[in-house]
Amino acid sequence: MSILTQMNQSATSNITINDKQFTNNHGTPFEMAVFAAYHSTLYSGNPPREGKLSTTTIIGPLRKAIYAILNPESVEPQDVQVLLASAKGTAMHEGMTRALTTLNSGYICEQRLERTINDWKISGEFDILTPDKQIKDLKFVSNYNIKKLDEDRQKLTNEMTLEDMYEQTPTYFKYQAQLSIYYYLLNDPQVKPYGSILFSLNNGSDMGKYTIDQEVTFPLWPKEVTEEFIATRIELIKQHLANGTLPDCSDSERGYIPAEFKLARVSPTNGSMTTVRGSKFSNESEFRAFIRKSGKPGDQEVIQPSKYVLCNFCNFASICTQPI
Ligand code: SF4
Repeated sequence: MSILTQMNQSATSNITINDKQFTNNHGTPFEMAVFAAYHSTLYSGNPPREGKLSTTTIIGPLRKAIYAILNPESVEPQDVQVLLASAKGTAMHEGMTRALTTLNSGYICEQRLERTINDWKISGEFDILTPDKQIKDLKFVSNYNIKKLDEDRQKLTNEMTLEDMYEQTPTYFKYQAQLSIYYYLLNDPQVKPYGSILFSLNNGSDMGKYTIDQEVTFPLWPKEVTEEFIATRIELIKQHLANGTLPDCSDSERGYIPAEFKLARVSPTNGSMTTVRGSKFSNESEFRAFIRKSGKPGDQEVIQPSKYVLCNFCNFASICTQPI
């Protein structure tokens, strides 16, 4: 076998670490693949099960929570490419913990907590509790998350209920809910009623549009509000398990992006195809009406079908029966 063939094979081999199998179907370099697989085995929590759920599971779609309870073993081996970003995040968390907890700094890091609500245990692990008792969580995310968070913050109004926020401002909701549940789990009157997410961007800052490392502070829900939110979701999950039913994920939970229709035309100034002004629609019949009125010979239709982006990242996509 030539050296090149050996190299190619090692880059696409499947990997087993701590008896867990991972695929490497996208040619992630071997050492990076081992790094991703290894760090994904370091998660300190247990998989969701009936009677015990993690903070991440309880704030996510109920359908996913029920799939997770009914399928405690991972549905299929995960691919290292999907795990790579979170592995880098895990390594960053380890480094942050080591840095903050040296020399009796007063920081408490990566502490797992648990409380019982309606006979079910809810667990969560906060990243950082500062010496003056503010909860902070470290997120190693794409600039898309910051873009969505900015959009959500513009939409927020005082009249919105938690249910409204869950559907209409899901990125803001997710971060606020996570910090609020840690606040509830800590149950310490000295902990501040606001918390922060420390964002570090993993895919650049989009030509300087987004700050790579930044802190965003959120007011936290009062503890009785958090308890009611968790209790309601547990009750819904219990009912579905008892009835053998599955709630549908909403468009927001599936990351629905509507179809986009537009017309492209050769530009008389530079000869390249450019979008015809006013031709962009999310509705096909309006697009057809525009073509009838303003289309010209040689125009090209550019159609992006609608999609559910979050379903692509869902662990249960291969068994999910909700129609697309
Ligand atoms: S695949 Fe999509 S619809 Fe199905 S559980 Fe996952 S997020 Fe929900």
